[in-house]
This record gives sequence, structure tokens and C-alpha cells, in this order.
Amino acid sequence: MVSMRLDLRDVRGPAHRVDRAFPASAFGSEEAFAVASPVELRLNVRKDGDKYSLLGRLVTRVRHDCCRCLEPFDLATELDIDVRYLPQQVNTGEGEHEISDDDLSIAFYRDDEIDLGGLVREQLHLAAPMKPLCDDACRGLCPACGANRNRETCGCDTAWHDPRFAVLRSLARTSAGPGPQRKG
Ligand SMILES: [Zn+2]
Ligand SMILES: [Zn+2]
Repeated sequence: MVSMRLDLRDVRGPAHRVDRAFPASAFGSEEAFAVASPVELRLNVRKDGDKYSLLGRLVTRVRHDCCRCLEPFDLATELDIDVRYLPQQVNTGEGEHEISDDDLSIAFYRDDEIDLGGLVREQLHLAAPMKPLCDDACRGLCPACGANRNRETCGCDTAWHDPRFAVLRSLARTSAGPGPQRKG
């Protein structure tokens, strides 16, 4: 098991460089996506009293399911990291509510350790596209037969017909027998 902990006791001086790589297997499959290649994390850790700021870059590939054709695809992902870590108050103390919960660039550490795995997961979640697309030109699935239209042409007539007109059309068909209004 790869340790994804950053021991803050190793951080000495105002700036400390951290270069870590974690195998994709260190991350479980998330609900909406899975880490598909090793995660490279390059950080500058700056210590300011008991606060630490982590600035740097995260590089990996993330597997998503395309929202149109439902096929999995890997998305090259490069994210800027800019997170401040504050010590977590073990007991509910004053100061704990000074930071609003919706400040996404604030995180907490405890026991002199930062959980870099948690940082990676959090950042990937924040960056995950709401509607992942394998390609902007993805043609999606045929609504009639379910064929992947990027790969095959199924020939279904999928022009959208208003169901109300379908009723009228079928009425028109029944009344349009061989009658006087038909030519030829
Ligand atoms: Zn697609
Ligand atoms: Zn079809």
C-alpha cells in the first residue's frame, strides 16, 4: 500500500518541494469516474505558522463514461492545485467556524499529516465534467435501436415526430382509402 501521507514534520523552511506519484490502483473507482493512470503530484509546500499552503500541479488520466454514447474514455487531466491547510480542531473550539464551509481552497490536517490521497480525490471531483463527452462530435446512441452511432449506421428513422401528429397521420391513412379524393 502506497503511503499518500505528507508528514508535515518534514516540512522545514518556508518552501518545501514535494514530488510524488501514486499508482491508479491506490484510488478506488469513484462513482462518476476512475483514475486511469498514475497520479503525479508536484507541489510547493509553504509553511506559515501552523498553516500550510500547497501550490502546484496534478497530472493524470481519468476515465469517464460519455454522457451521449455511454462508452468509457480517458481524459487527460492537469489541474492547478492551490489549497491551504489549517489544523483541524479536535475539540469543538473557537475558531472552527471562522472559515466558511464553501471555501473550497481550505482543507484541514491533523496529527501533523496531510492526506494527499484525499487532496487528489477532492480535486478530481471538483474538476470532473458534469457532462463528460468522449468527443464534441460524439453522435450518441440511436434512440430507436441503441446502436452507437459513432461506430455504425443503423438506418433507423429517428427524425423526431410529434406523437400527436402520429395519431392524425394514422387517421389520415385509414380515411385515405381508395376513394374519390385519390388520384389515379
Ligand atoms: Zn460519446
Ligand atoms: Zn437505430
